[in-house]
Amino acid sequence: MANITQTCTVCSKQFLVIDKEQQFLQEKSLPLPTNCPTCRQTRRLKLRGERALYRAKCSKCDKEIIVSYDPKTVTNQILCKHDYEQYFLENDPIITDPLPDA
Ligand SMILES: [Zn+2]
Ligand SMILES: [Zn+2]
Repeated sequence: MANITQTCTVCSKQFLVIDKEQQFLQEKSLPLPTNCPTCRQTRRLKLRGERALYRAKCSKCDKEIIVSYDPKTVTNQILCKHDYEQYFLENDPIITDPLPDA
């Protein structure tokens, strides 16, 4: 197998898909990448950054808080830091989750 030259769809730069990478992609039935390594890296970082923040209201005190997950996807109650700590003090859990950003 020879190296393939692909053109990045973002920055139009050409980049190589080496032999080994092609084999790997073929094994996993994945298409050839359409972004150069630099753009892929940038996209990954951006995605991580945009995994951003949502506004939500504390289920207990109605205070507006910022959480790092989509409140619509959460089935448990959303609590501000204070009520969250209070909740765990009262319930004495065995497993503690990381504190939400507040
Ligand atoms: Zn690129
Ligand atoms: Zn609260």
